[in-house]
Amino acid sequence: MNVMGELQCYATVARSDVAAIMPQIRDRLASYQAVIAAEAPDSVRMEYPFGWLALRWDAAGLVLQGGAEAATGLARLKDLMATAVRVYARPNPPAVVWQGDNAGDTHLESFRLMEVAASVRITPHMQRVRLHGTGLDRFAAFGAMHVRLQLPTPEVPAPVWPIAGPDGLPLWPDPENKPAPRVYTVRQLNAAEGWMDIDLLLHDTDGPGATWARTVQVGEHVGVIGPVGRPLKPQADHYLLGADETGLPAIARMLESLPAAASGHAFVEVAREADVQPIANQTGIALHWIYRGDAPAGAALEAAILAQPFPSGNAFGWFAAEAAHATAVREYWRGTLGLGRDQTLVAAYWRRGTSGHMAG
Ligand SMILES: Cc1cc2nc3c(=O)[nH]c(=O)nc-3n(C[C@H](O)[C@H](O)[C@H](O)COP(=O)(O)OP(=O)(O)OC[C@H]3O[C@@H](n4cnc5c(N)ncnc54)[C@H](O)[C@@H]3O)c2cc1C
Repeated sequence: MNVMGELQCYATVARSDVAAIMPQIRDRLASYQAVIAAEAPDSVRMEYPFGWLALRWDAAGLVLQGGAEAATGLARLKDLMATAVRVYARPNPPAVVWQGDNAGDTHLESFRLMEVAASVRITPHMQRVRLHGTGLDRFAAFGAMHVRLQLPTPEVPAPVWPIAGPDGLPLWPDPENKPAPRVYTVRQLNAAEGWMDIDLLLHDTDGPGATWARTVQVGEHVGVIGPVGRPLKPQADHYLLGADETGLPAIARMLESLPAAASGHAFVEVAREADVQPIANQTGIALHWIYRGDAPAGAALEAAILAQPFPSGNAFGWFAAEAAHATAVREYWRGTLGLGRDQTLVAAYWRRGTSGHMAG
């Protein structure tokens, strides 16, 4: 800790080719709604609501630094920087070993062991699981709304939970007894009362997520790592939103939290009318339900989104569904319409025939 009471961390990464990947590392870190406080050809300093980070690089490697008032903020900075290095310094990403405050601490700030308090079938294909735990403020603190559930499976019914490694990222002390990770959205959160709700789709193919949702019992435990994801663009006036059931929890949260003045259209594809759920839409965004019936997921949704004129003015497009349909919508919005990265966010939430998409 320095004289001002701020917690600080630093690490050096020896890698001669680091300059080549710095634009990607910089853009990734900036995309978490950083303010660029200073920038030069060989350095950048960014500020977030929870702390600051600084990167400096030369032919010998990269120096990473961060500072935050709270341990949660410092851990978040370590996580952001170490993940960026891991993602872009491939192959063989170098080890990031943090020094400074809380260095070597094996407590993983981003992990919560939570207890299942309720599990309710809210529609024929959606299971709402309420998880109880402590210290849930962080799931509202960083503008991200997803988590990586760490699920017990029939093969690993009693997983060994993660600790923090020297880089601040999850380290699995017993890789043989790792839980199965799957990404889900926090549908509702009440940090003061210590609970969060997750809505899990009961899709037809076996997978740890859908199987857990079908069978989980009150009193069982599950690991939660997060929050995961980037903050949404702060404020648009008009929205075009589209999702299948996997993106429905995220759209529901947006409709329940965006300002009343927001306008536009939201399309949600479900199997049948019985799968429609109540959403306290407090915006001017019109919600349209699409029923696919027995057709494959995503085709009707994609058609509806492509047929809808993209709103003009200060507008934002958001889409989450199966990978092939996400690709089609991204190509249309970004390629055909020429919209920018700051005007759209298109994500593949699952991939047909692939287990554990985006889970790792
Ligand atoms: C940021 C993000 C947020 C997400 N939020 C949610 C959420 O809140 N609720 C939710 O239910 N899902 C959500 N998902 C999607 C979820 O992570 C995937 O559907 C995941 O694959 C489910 O894991 P599983 O173990 O059930 O199946 P897996 O083991 O991953 O896959 C097994 C088989 O099931 C198929 N499959 C997977 N998902 C579907 C599906 N939706 N429909 C039909 N077949 C499928 C796969 O193609 C594979 O063949 C989210 C994904 C991301 C990236």
